[in-house]
Amino acid sequence: MEQYEAVIGLETHIQLKTKTKIFCSCKADSWNDSQNQNVCPVCSGLPGVLPVLNQEAVVRGVLLAYAMNSAIQPISIFDRKNYFYPDLPKGYQITQFDKPLGLGGYLDFPSTGGLPCRVTIAKMHLEEDAGKTKNENGARQIDFNRCGVPLIEMVTGPDIHSSDDAANYLTRLRQLLRWVGVSDADMEKGQLRCDANVSIRKKGQTHLNTKTEIKNVNSIEAVRSAIETEIARQIEEVEKGNRIESWTLEWDDENKSLKKMRSKETEADYRYFREPDLLPLQITKDWLDQILADFPELPLQRRERFIQTFGLSEYDAEILTSERQLSEYFLAAAGLYKGDIKRVSNWLTNDVLRMIKESGSEPSLMKLSPAYLVEIIEMVDAGQINANTGKDLLIKVQANGKSPRKIVESEGLDMIADDGAIRQMAQSVLDESPKEVAAYKSGKVGLIGFFVGQLMKKMGGKADAQLAKKIFEEILQ
Ligand code: ZN
Ligand code: MN
Repeated sequence: MEQYEAVIGLETHIQLKTKTKIFCSCKADSWNDSQNQNVCPVCSGLPGVLPVLNQEAVVRGVLLAYAMNSAIQPISIFDRKNYFYPDLPKGYQITQFDKPLGLGGYLDFPSTGGLPCRVTIAKMHLEEDAGKTKNENGARQIDFNRCGVPLIEMVTGPDIHSSDDAANYLTRLRQLLRWVGVSDADMEKGQLRCDANVSIRKKGQTHLNTKTEIKNVNSIEAVRSAIETEIARQIEEVEKGNRIESWTLEWDDENKSLKKMRSKETEADYRYFREPDLLPLQITKDWLDQILADFPELPLQRRERFIQTFGLSEYDAEILTSERQLSEYFLAAAGLYKGDIKRVSNWLTNDVLRMIKESGSEPSLMKLSPAYLVEIIEMVDAGQINANTGKDLLIKVQANGKSPRKIVESEGLDMIADDGAIRQMAQSVLDESPKEVAAYKSGKVGLIGFFVGQLMKKMGGKADAQLAKKIFEEILQ
């Protein structure tokens, strides 16, 4: 195993998030619809109909090309790719061949090896999706809903050398697609699809050996397992003295195995020619400027800024930039908070995310606004409420959308830091717990937490926990 190096390239198809299909006005997202519901003469390929290019699909494509550092071409051209398959009613796919929307490009990400990794792409092009076939009730069924859904296809160079980095690339790509808003990139729904090209070579060699292509991998974990399985198979074959043949393999996720599908068509078989019904796609400088006017800061840059400007740890910066919405929430809260920004980061990455998870709320429906979060942190900082009350407040604010200060006022949640009151309550806790007191005195000092907990119960969770702990220690001594 150690003598070999894997060489991996990933071909991805990304469904662009548009209301309608790329060449007709049928609804693009059919996830909740019954089969063949969103179909018209254009996307089902009836004779004599004409495609009309959807501007929104071009806009999303341009945004993605820009995010991938690809050179957006002022003129790109649509071609027909001809092949016969039941899910392709026209008998050809409208795509782009030698004049694609974007030339070159790359995506950088922190590799599992610790070093930054750059994965290049040669080009990216716009095209339409095909339909779907499936076997059901003993019959072969065809669903044309997906015909004409806009896609971007991009193929990476042979830059990836481990299954982990293949998974990494896909994770970063998915993050980027959602961040820029060009696709929901849900692999289970087929919005991000990936085929993997895999070959191996002896370490130190630079030529490329015959590769195989793995199809039908529809989760990042499946991509990882399929590549690992194929690398192991190729090494075994080569060690036995056999040659690797250029197969197309299908990943069976249930049995975690690969099976041979068919030998692949070559490009000549597709008889590409210009699509006569569409004009060249022209992207003028003005239009490009307009499309890119609100282009966001990208996740890796923002992650770096959080580390450099706010002094966050790499770990926290990673969490806070995992989704654009979360990073923007953090920026809004950080802008309002006067103290150490790391306090905001801690509350957000620990308590707020836990609250969201446990309450099952949608981050987009946050009633706990950045301003309310800052209000809570400030009340804790000022000693007006204790940290636990603050955490409870997160849940209450999220439930009713009221101002945290108003809730503290109306429910009387102010922290009790009155030495006399706490001391009196502490004494009664100790009187009721003779066993624990004896255990404490024989060395089980961890029981201090139990005493404080009992006191908190009696005082509605509002006591100053630090002060309570100090008082218990004094009395017990
Ligand atoms: Zn249609
Ligand atoms: Mn394609």
